[in-house]
Amino acid sequence: MHTFTESSLAMARSLAELCLERLALQAPLDHPRTPEQLHAAAGQTITADGLGSEAAVQIWDQVLAPACLSVDHPRYLSFIPGAPSKAAAAFDMLVGAMSVYAGSWLEGAGAVYAENQALRWIADLVGLPATAGGVFVQGGTIGNLSALVAARAAALHARGGVRPARWTVVLTDETHSSVKHALETVMDVDVLLVAGDERGRLTGEAIRQRLAGLSALERDQIFAVVATAGTTNLGVIDDLAGIAAVAQENGWWLHVDGAYGGAGLAAPSVRELYAGIEQADSFIVDPHKWLFAPFDCCALLYRDPRLGRAAHTQKAGYLDPVTVEGEWNPSDFSIQLTRRARGLPFWFSLAVHGTAAYTEAIERTLAVAREGRALIEKADHVRLLVEPDLSVLIFERVDWDEDDYNAWTARLLEDGFAFVTASRHRGKPCTRFAIVNPLTTGQDLAEILDTMR
Ligand SMILES: *Cc1c(COP(=O)(O)O)cnc(C)c1O
Repeated sequence: MHTFTESSLAMARSLAELCLERLALQAPLDHPRTPEQLHAAAGQTITADGLGSEAAVQIWDQVLAPACLSVDHPRYLSFIPGAPSKAAAAFDMLVGAMSVYAGSWLEGAGAVYAENQALRWIADLVGLPATAGGVFVQGGTIGNLSALVAARAAALHARGGVRPARWTVVLTDETHSSVKHALETVMDVDVLLVAGDERGRLTGEAIRQRLAGLSALERDQIFAVVATAGTTNLGVIDDLAGIAAVAQENGWWLHVDGAYGGAGLAAPSVRELYAGIEQADSFIVDPHKWLFAPFDCCALLYRDPRLGRAAHTQKAGYLDPVTVEGEWNPSDFSIQLTRRARGLPFWFSLAVHGTAAYTEAIERTLAVAREGRALIEKADHVRLLVEPDLSVLIFERVDWDEDDYNAWTARLLEDGFAFVTASRHRGKPCTRFAIVNPLTTGQDLAEILDTMR
């Protein structure tokens, strides 16, 4: 298993062939199968004696891979798709072939150096100070959780270690589910929901009004507010400057969740919508969404990384050799210890293409979203529901109910034509296009809209 033989070479070659083919050709959209169908086709794959590489590769390539959707297909417009650049996807193969432990400087200095330059590009886009820094974690869920844990630790420290009866964080309805889950389920923290405006935006004014109705005790329990820079369902950016002002007045931590929309910071045509973001105490963006990195990759940044380190550094005798003062240990900034160098594919692509290529690719998706918006406004059978800020379009097909949407989604997927799922807005079924793939065209959107007539 651990020596490289003739047959290891043949196996590696056949896998490399598959990788090259996948990089070179547009993969079909594919579709899921039932467990029974997969069992009938693949059977029992784990056996005492092994299947041998040829049979295992064949089962993967012929049976299992086609049962996984191609998230990077230009007509995959559900949830938030992914669209890795060729450079990022290719470098991911190398990360897989190496055994880099990227949790500590001692073990992964070269990788951490490279990742930190990629983080610095993001910090500059946000407008964070030169001392800002952080780590690439698995996804927005872990990024949000790690930032909020650091926020609470900082609040406890600032209060001289005296805990209020309950801790509270301010959110709104459109805040991503991962934030609510992190707070309520993982951290046992209360959520204060403040109503959004007509586009679901959290505003400083709405928070102020809500605060006026709270007792001094209730107000004192609040330690942070989460603002979203690009909501997942609506693609709308909160009133970041207004929220930052309220956070400042009250001494709260401002966390900005830009998992999807943070990428728009690199696009001059929308940059002004993010005014105020530079005041964030912590920020996340998922390069695996709109920054063209493969899964899974979230950039987590702290304005003052010492606060991240104070919350997250793990202490144990056997970790002493890696906990060296002055060295940048990525594991100090999130809830995880062992870490794949998951920021490296993103770094490599940035290094190869330069940041201007990122700006251009993001602007291209924004232009296609504007084209899609015009198509929706021109057509009689569909209606735009929310004025978009970024590259998510939420709209309804006039007179359709939930079953109509679901039947349409299933038909498009079965035909391998497109993947567009139903969503919900103000309790009513609808659908949305989430456009992060520079290969998606206005023609793609027009053809999908035509299937709804
Ligand atoms: C996708 C998303 C998340 C969750 O990120 P994962 O990478 O899926 O864990 C959090 N917040 C927002 C706004 C998102 O769009």
